[in-house]
Amino acid sequence: MKAICKLSPGPGAEYTDCDVPVINKDELLLRVDHAAICENDLAIYNWTGWAPDRVKTPMIFGHELCGEVVEMGQLDKGFNKGDFVSVESHIFCGLCYQCRNDQRHVCANVRMIGIDTPGGFAEYAAVPARCAWKHTDDSLKDIGAIMEPFGNAVYGVLAEDIVGKTVLISGCDPQGLFGIGIARAGGAKNIIALDSSAYRQKLAKKAGAGHVLDPQSEDIFTKIKHAAKSPDGVDTVIEMSGDPKAIGLGLSVLRYGGRFTAFGMPGKKIELDYAKDIISKGIRLYGVAGREIFRSWYKMESILKSNAVDPRPIITHTFKFKDFKKAFELVGSKEKKCGKVILTP
Ligand SMILES: [Zn+2]
Ligand SMILES: [Zn+2]
Repeated sequence: MKAICKLSPGPGAEYTDCDVPVINKDELLLRVDHAAICENDLAIYNWTGWAPDRVKTPMIFGHELCGEVVEMGQLDKGFNKGDFVSVESHIFCGLCYQCRNDQRHVCANVRMIGIDTPGGFAEYAAVPARCAWKHTDDSLKDIGAIMEPFGNAVYGVLAEDIVGKTVLISGCDPQGLFGIGIARAGGAKNIIALDSSAYRQKLAKKAGAGHVLDPQSEDIFTKIKHAAKSPDGVDTVIEMSGDPKAIGLGLSVLRYGGRFTAFGMPGKKIELDYAKDIISKGIRLYGVAGREIFRSWYKMESILKSNAVDPRPIITHTFKFKDFKKAFELVGSKEKKCGKVILTP
């Protein structure tokens, strides 16, 4: 089969011939329908950040995928050939303390598809059946690969009730853009989005943000409070960017007693005013790792099937696997002239 594979440590990857995976008895073999590119894939492609320490080559990457079941392991009950599935990228062990306490998303022994095990930028992928989400009809097939990142936004935004709240979405990468729609559907009163990319600012407007601001513009602190129509600040911050400055800004514009969802990962340790911005303000801080397995998936299915949020306008580009270099150039470009980018076999 053809796959996008990182053959050796260092920047880049190859579109190359690989063996079709041989499945274990608890795995499914999928014929990949499409896969999506995430910032984590960019780190693997560019060989930056955490990637060199974690990824063992050769590795087929890609962890946001969907496809049709073509083979089942002997232990896999509940799946049939022809089933269409999206994939939960966190391979949870099922046995650790967290897994046994309904916290599979923070499994102590988690491995990630496309990072620790061969992934979805391939014609075929082997995935544990317990990580497969079966579609019950065809309505979400065309967006099957973006359910994984959409789930991040569902978990992050809906970690608390947002009805009537002023919500700041900090960072309009695809998860941030999904988050705008989810906040809107969830009943937020006022949504303020932050991003420096003009392209993504437009997408944020389209997704339903009432105010879209450039976090690098002058006196942004006052601009946000003005947009929030409150000198106290915003009720909720959904931090998707991971940018240390944006994290500090988000904490500073959050009102006393507000909620801060931390999703975007800074590349290094950052400095916070812990006493002033967290303790004294009495905020609730949620770390969001992945999605709740599978609670977030049920919520997602409901949100998407009811058309409360349509994530399709956020998918801006589709490339063939063989053109993956163009796709990664686009996702990695400084101007960020893209929303979600899809790859197809
Ligand atoms: Zn991802
Ligand atoms: Zn576990």
